[in-house]
Amino acid sequence: HQKLRLEIRAQNNYSRIITFFTALCPLYKQNLRGDSYMSAVIIDGFSIAQNLRQRAAEKAALLKQNGVEPCLAVVLVGDNPASVSYVAAKKKALAEAGMADRSVNLPCDVSEEHLLAGIGDLNRNPSVHGILVQLPLPSHIDEQKVIAAIAPEKDVDGFHPVNAGKLLIGEDGFVPCTPLGIIELLNEMRIKTDGAHAVIVGRSNIVGKPLALLLARKPANATVTLCHTGTKNLASFTRSADILVAAIGRPNAIGAGMIKPGAAVIDVGVNRIPDHTKKSGFRLAGDVDFEAAREIAGFITPVPKGVGPMTIAMLLHNTLKAAGSTGY
Ligand code: NAP
Repeated sequence: HQKLRLEIRAQNNYSRIITFFTALCPLYKQNLRGDSYMSAVIIDGFSIAQNLRQRAAEKAALLKQNGVEPCLAVVLVGDNPASVSYVAAKKKALAEAGMADRSVNLPCDVSEEHLLAGIGDLNRNPSVHGILVQLPLPSHIDEQKVIAAIAPEKDVDGFHPVNAGKLLIGEDGFVPCTPLGIIELLNEMRIKTDGAHAVIVGRSNIVGKPLALLLARKPANATVTLCHTGTKNLASFTRSADILVAAIGRPNAIGAGMIKPGAAVIDVGVNRIPDHTKKSGFRLAGDVDFEAAREIAGFITPVPKGVGPMTIAMLLHNTLKAAGSTGY
């Protein structure tokens, strides 16, 4: 009995020490916790993005004092409800940061030729610093052709082949906003990437692939595994991830059993789930089963208010860069 009492006391003391450190510093939490008795730290992407937007506004004001008003042309083709709401959010962010937006709204049956001519005009306009064409485009328009028509130095989305190539070989260029925002989130939360195993599920050109490059290069210095529909036994990879990024586009694709205890889980997915209790008729859900995952993970981003606001903050960052700012 005496031995048992001593063991229980030692265990309790150990638990207290762990609780103390994990409450004190989220950084320790990732390394110390080995079980699921404590909920994850929720990464408040919304607040982090608000701070970045405030700093962007200060930079924009400085540029204006020097006679440059940062200006982004936002091109919307058609009236896809998700695209309309993304464009509205981007324009609101520009206005709040004191930057100009040159809106171009085109009908969904606009010809590819007309759209390309419009992009040519924006390329030549010296008062327009950045050009964003909201994707997806209607099926009769070749998206890659449109992206390639944007001048690389105005390509604030970072989708142009020149900018994609620069990222690949480590030259300075425009980096896509969502992966850039994820790196900012990890840095802001002091989540260690150096030496970490980062597993990204999804290999799109706008999220998975550029994020893999950003995490693998210095200074992030992570070891990266990129998963997709051809990956066999996905869970065996995700369960070994110190940093797990889900960019899939399928609600609840990542369950709690696929997560390593204490891992940092970044949920990029934005899925519209029909919900008649909502005025809009839907609610947003990520790719991760949030409620179950938060009991296992060390850190987790919510949906909404996780990665999404960071994407918009990074758009402001890239627009400032295009307008000649030295960045944040
Ligand atoms: P995408 O182009 O559709 O790519 C999805 C990727 O996920 C593909 O590589 C696909 O593999 C992979 N995948 C699909 N099902 C899978 C499965 N069961 N197992 C393993 N891999 C699977 O998507 P995306 O544009 O990257 O977007 C992904 C999600 O992020 C969407 O919900 C989108 O709305 C959201 N998103 C959010 C933001 C934001 O700011 N929050 C920004 C961009 C995107 P294959 O290549 O083999 O098909």
